[in-house]
Amino acid sequence: APSVIWFRDDLRVGDNPALHAAIQRGRPIVGVFVLDEESPGFRALGGASLWWLHRSLLSLAASLEGLGARLILRSGPAESVITALTASVGAGAVFWNRRYGAAEREVDTRIKAGLRAGGVETESFAGSLLFEPWTIRTGQDRPYSVFTPFWRACTSGPPPRMPYPAPRKIPGWGGAMASDGLADWALEPTRPDWAAGLRSEWEPGEASARALLDTFLRDALDDYADARDLPAEPATSRLAPHLRWGEISPYQVWHAADAARAGATGRAAASATRFLTELGWREFCYHTLFHAPELASVNIRREFDAFPWPPLDDRALRAWQQGRTGFPLVDAGMRELWRTGSMHNRVRMVVASFLTKNLLIDWREGERWFWDTLVDADPASNPFNWQWVAGSGADAAPYFRVFNPDLQAAKFDPQGEYIRANVPEWGTDAYPAPIVDLGDTRRAALAAYDQVKRTK
Ligand code: FAD
Repeated sequence: APSVIWFRDDLRVGDNPALHAAIQRGRPIVGVFVLDEESPGFRALGGASLWWLHRSLLSLAASLEGLGARLILRSGPAESVITALTASVGAGAVFWNRRYGAAEREVDTRIKAGLRAGGVETESFAGSLLFEPWTIRTGQDRPYSVFTPFWRACTSGPPPRMPYPAPRKIPGWGGAMASDGLADWALEPTRPDWAAGLRSEWEPGEASARALLDTFLRDALDDYADARDLPAEPATSRLAPHLRWGEISPYQVWHAADAARAGATGRAAASATRFLTELGWREFCYHTLFHAPELASVNIRREFDAFPWPPLDDRALRAWQQGRTGFPLVDAGMRELWRTGSMHNRVRMVVASFLTKNLLIDWREGERWFWDTLVDADPASNPFNWQWVAGSGADAAPYFRVFNPDLQAAKFDPQGEYIRANVPEWGTDAYPAPIVDLGDTRRAALAAYDQVKRTK
């Protein structure tokens, strides 16, 4: 009886614990990916994510084929799809790597119970996080709400396991199986085709994730701590979308960077530690999602429910989305996002602060726009960071820290290189005038925040 390996957020063959276990089982292997837009509580993927997914599936299918196995594509609610597929191939086992959203976990639990009742072996593995959320708890047996002690707890235990080597061969299952065609799913945009910028910027897939990591470790890791805040510099790893789809595992990234740290001293060692800490923020986001499944819609700090958001100003929201606010760093970021599907982290913080505190637009509007346009949009990091900037989140920035986009530009893009690259008409008459006054809007935001303080 063959083994089914169900790929989800782990579109890779290297360091894939579920695949590894299936190979160990010694039976032929069927790989499957389910496009599930129907299970209750599942959030529909954004446009940029769908584009990425298409490419990533092509890449995964090619590597499986090269190793001797196939990737079957099916769409529909995962529970019925996986159950039916297991029965139709007569599988003896189904393996997968865990995911951490509540709706997804519920589906997985139901599938596991159903398959086991039918005598099919199932097992789930830790492949997407370095630390499982239920293992990191405070002395009071509660989840951490502050990052520093959280990360200390993570890193004071045994180090993350070593990555599994990539398989040399996968015994494929030879039986007949129907598969959807990837083209039928129409994940890529056609009319209009807005993905040209994404295509020139990104190469989804496991091989390019590995290549990015190697280049980053070789050329940029030593300066990471100093340069990571400068949007004009190629100073960060750009691994986020690859991690989001699991084309590379955090174990692979962790151990590669940790090995670099072991040989480093001074600034280079501090840079490696800083980079590993950023992986820690990714963990913290997912742990927070695990404990607060409504992260994308509900304030972590519930006193923010009292925040008096004014009625939505559609024109201001559109100006922000389109990069026409008249604040060059904000506009540069929003246009970078639209063109490339990504935005530098420093600028993400600036545009998020501007939306929530200068335009007084609810962070959920910004989160939704990022969800649709970011290639690295993920269900944990995106809402977590939005809430972090908005002040309503776990270990959030203090509310009164309102970024001034002009001061941020002077500090982090002093030559205006990043701005010019994204806003070519900056400094000419064609560039829009500022849509708000920074001082007035900042005061209005702080006044609105008084309501939150009163309900606290
Ligand atoms: P590096 O600097 O090379 O960092 C390495 C890895 O660490 C990243 O790939 C990422 O996996 C992780 N990481 C770094 N910073 C953070 C962080 N603040 N939170 C969580 N993980 C982090 N990141 C996402 O992956 N998906 C999102 O949807 C997302 N939305 C964001 C929204 C806002 C408003 C803000 C302020 C930040 C958001 N981030 C998100 C975090 C961060 O901006 C990106 O992870 C980072 O810019 C990706 O670039 P990089 O891969 O070169 O990062």
